[in-house]
Amino acid sequence: MSNLNDKITKVATHVSQNEDLIFEKSSPGKKAYRLPPLDVPDVDERALLGAEYVREDLGNMPEVSEIEIIRHFTRMSTWNYAVDYGMYPLGSCTMKYNARINEVVARLDGIAGAHPYQPEKLSQGNLRIMKMLADQLVEITGMDSITLQPAAGAHGEMTGILLIRAYLESQGNPRKKILIPDSAHGTNPATAAICGYQVENLKSNSAGLTDIPSLVAQMNEDVAALMLTNPNTLGVFEQEIHKIADILHEKGGQLYMDGANMNALVGKTRPGDFGVDVMHLNLHKTFSTPHGGGGPGSGPVAIKKHLEPFLPKPVVVANSDGTLRLDYDRPKSIGRVRMYFGNFGMHVRALAYIMANGPDGLRLTTEDAVLNANYIRKKLAGIYDLPYSTPSMHEVVFSDRNQARKGIKTGDIAKRLIDYGFHPYTTSFPLIVPGALMIEPTESESKEELDQFIEAMKAVAEEAENNPEIIAGAPYNTRVSRMDETAAARKPILRWKPKAKSAAE
Ligand SMILES: *Cc1c(COP(=O)(O)O)cnc(C)c1O
Repeated sequence: MSNLNDKITKVATHVSQNEDLIFEKSSPGKKAYRLPPLDVPDVDERALLGAEYVREDLGNMPEVSEIEIIRHFTRMSTWNYAVDYGMYPLGSCTMKYNARINEVVARLDGIAGAHPYQPEKLSQGNLRIMKMLADQLVEITGMDSITLQPAAGAHGEMTGILLIRAYLESQGNPRKKILIPDSAHGTNPATAAICGYQVENLKSNSAGLTDIPSLVAQMNEDVAALMLTNPNTLGVFEQEIHKIADILHEKGGQLYMDGANMNALVGKTRPGDFGVDVMHLNLHKTFSTPHGGGGPGSGPVAIKKHLEPFLPKPVVVANSDGTLRLDYDRPKSIGRVRMYFGNFGMHVRALAYIMANGPDGLRLTTEDAVLNANYIRKKLAGIYDLPYSTPSMHEVVFSDRNQARKGIKTGDIAKRLIDYGFHPYTTSFPLIVPGALMIEPTESESKEELDQFIEAMKAVAEEAENNPEIIAGAPYNTRVSRMDETAAARKPILRWKPKAKSAAE
C-alpha cells in the first residue's frame, strides 16, 4: 500500500474555497505584458474598422501580473487529470500516451507556420504529408481510399453515412433504415438519425456478438447499412464478420465499421479484407494525437472503391510529374465537411506516430494493448464480475454485481479510484452490461503501473465489502468531490464573463 499512498493525488494543496479569491484576482493597473514602443502611425480604430465593430465598454476585463496568471493556470492544471500524470483507463477512448516526437515534428517551421491559402507550389511538403498519411491509413485498414477532413469520430460517422446515402441515391434509392447493435456507442444512432435514417436496434447474443439470425430476419431492401464496432464495445471481436458482410451485401446494404477500436487490430487484420465498405478512424485514439483538451480531434473516413466519387473535396492527387495538387473537380462529391483540409496538425502527428513505430512497432503496440487488457482481466476476474466470458481484445468489461450487493455501484467505485490516483474507467457503458466497468489500459502502461492499478481496484473492492460508507463519500483528495452531473450537463458554465462595472468605478 505504501506505493499507492505515494500515488494518491495531492491536488488539494492549500486553496481557499472562496471562488472570488480563486478566480477574481484582478486589480486595476496590473499587467502581465510589456509592449515595445509603437513603430507605426497611431490610428483611431474606429476610423480603421468602422465604429460599429468597436465596443465602447468591455466590462471589467481582468488585470493581473505575470506570476498571478502563471500560477492561476498551473494550479488549475493540477486540479485535472492527464495521461502525462498517470494511467487513464477510460474504455473505448484509447487514452494512450501522446509521444513527444509528434510534437517535435508538428512544431517544425514549414509545418506549424504554413497557411491554408498558401499556393500549391509552396505547399508540396505539406500536401505530401497528407498524401503519405492517407496512403499509410489505406494500407493499415485495407481500404481503397480515404478522406482526412472530418474533425472527430462522430463527424467521420456522419461523413461515412452521407457517402453511403450518396452512393445508394446514385443507384436510385437511398433506402430508409440503418441497423445498429444494442452494444453500439451512442454516436452511431445519433449519426443515422442526423443523416435522415430510421434506427433499428439489433440485439446481441449471449456471447456479446451480433446475433446472426436476428440480422438475417431484419435485413431487407429498406436497410441502407449496418453500423458495427469491431471489436465491439465489450472488447470482443465479431468472429462472424465475413458472414455479416455477406448478409448485408446480398441485399444491397453497406457495412459501416466504427473504427474507434482499431487499437486492437492495427497490424493484425484489416477491415477492408473482412468486408467493410466504409469506416472511420480516430487519430486521437489509435494514432496517438491529443484527445480532448489537448487538441482538436481527427476522424478520417476510409472507403472502398465504389464510394470514391462521393468523397469530400478537395482530394490530394498526383500530377504526371509527381508533384501534388488539390482536386476540386469532383461533380459527385458530397462537398466539404470541414474547412480547409481537416485538422492538419493532427495529420502530421499521426504520421509521425506511424513512421516512428513502423510496421513491426505498430503490430507490437496492438499486441501490448491486448496483453495489458488481458492482464487486468486475469488479475481482477472473480473480484469483479465478468459478465461475458468471450475473450477480450484491447479492453475488458466487468460489472459491479459483486459490489452492488453492498450498495456500491460502478460510479462509486470510479469515484474512489480517483483517491487512489487513477482516472476512472468508463462507467455504465456499454448499456447491455448493467453497472459496467469498462477498462482499457492501452499499450502505454508498464507492468508496474498496471500492478498499481490492480492493487487500487482490489483495495476499493475490499472497502466495498468491509467499509462501504467510505466509498459513498469519495473522492476525498480532489478539490471538488461529487458534482451535480445533471446540472453540469444541462446548465454548463463554459466561459468566464467579466462582471459589470459598478457605479463607483
Ligand atoms: C470515441 C468513440 C466514438 C466517437 O468519437 P469522437 O471523436 O469522440 O466523436 C464513436 N464510437 C466509438 C465506439 C467510440 O469509442
